Amino acid sequence: MTKLLEIDQLSIEFAGPSGPIRVVSGISLDIEPGQTHGIVGESGSGKSVTSLSVMRLLPKGQARVVEGDIRLNGQSLLEMSESQMQKVRGNRISIIFQEPMTALNPVFKIGHQVREAIRQHTKKSKRAAQKETIGLLGEVGISSPEQIVDVYPHQLSGGMRQRVMIAMAMASNPEVLIADEPTTALDVTIQAQILDLMRKLQQERGTAIILITHDLGVVAEICDRVSIMYAGQIVEQGDVKTLFKEPKHPYTAGLLNSMPQFTGKENRLQAISGQVPHPTEYTAGCRFAVRCPSRMDACDITEPALYDFGSGHRCKCHLYREGFE
Ligand code: SF4
Ligand code: MG
Repeated sequence: MTKLLEIDQLSIEFAGPSGPIRVVSGISLDIEPGQTHGIVGESGSGKSVTSLSVMRLLPKGQARVVEGDIRLNGQSLLEMSESQMQKVRGNRISIIFQEPMTALNPVFKIGHQVREAIRQHTKKSKRAAQKETIGLLGEVGISSPEQIVDVYPHQLSGGMRQRVMIAMAMASNPEVLIADEPTTALDVTIQAQILDLMRKLQQERGTAIILITHDLGVVAEICDRVSIMYAGQIVEQGDVKTLFKEPKHPYTAGLLNSMPQFTGKENRLQAISGQVPHPTEYTAGCRFAVRCPSRMDACDITEPALYDFGSGHRCKCHLYREGFE
């Protein structure tokens, strides 16, 4: 069966002062209609760069895909012309970012911005688009949309602005919605409401969602499958239930351990010490080695393979190599 969206052995490089720097190395994941796939990682792990590459929005002249492919319904996005890609972007694939203030134009009223988003991919008249704007704002839980169309972005709370962004992203009824840290800037209550909203829209429309986050709690709330990224690689991937119950990778285990709601050990919060290495510091061995409590000699020398445990559960760690006891 053709997958809806397929990222296949993708590698991305940035131009550096002394040669290209590989920030994403050979990652693969796929997503089916109506599914939510979480991409989890600390900042610098390559998750946002990956989402930008799906939209073909990597900064020109600075970053490029050097290996692999990205396919939408079997069709390569990387091989499309810019004009073909414009029809995909914001139409078949939409993206929402962490800080809606930067994506909304401060000088235009909300109604104008949502209406223009609608008119970008339909040939609707202004009047029809205005009507749809009000309907859409209502659908994302804005209680008096007739009034909200006449206000400017700065007059809204962060949660309301994120609802407007979701309305704009959903205006085209996209097959895939990429949400890059959509709730990070919001307080916990509003965060839960926004996640509920995304889930509701997904159920009603069958949209596939790629959710980028550093927060495993958010993944537990809303995702079906998850990829854990570390230093530009996917180190573990699987369905959320399995991965939370039986994490294989020491990094995943560490992330889960630092979340009291999953360990039940409120006072034994164990953060993983150290930081994600910079791409210029990657070694031939495992990139997590300097932080890993299970590090062995082999870890410093050879890169671990991605081991498959069945049902799409994979882990990149020497602990699972053949014959290892
Ligand atoms: Fe730790 Fe070695 Fe596994 Fe890397 S390969 S995560 S260093 S045990
Ligand atoms: Mg980011």
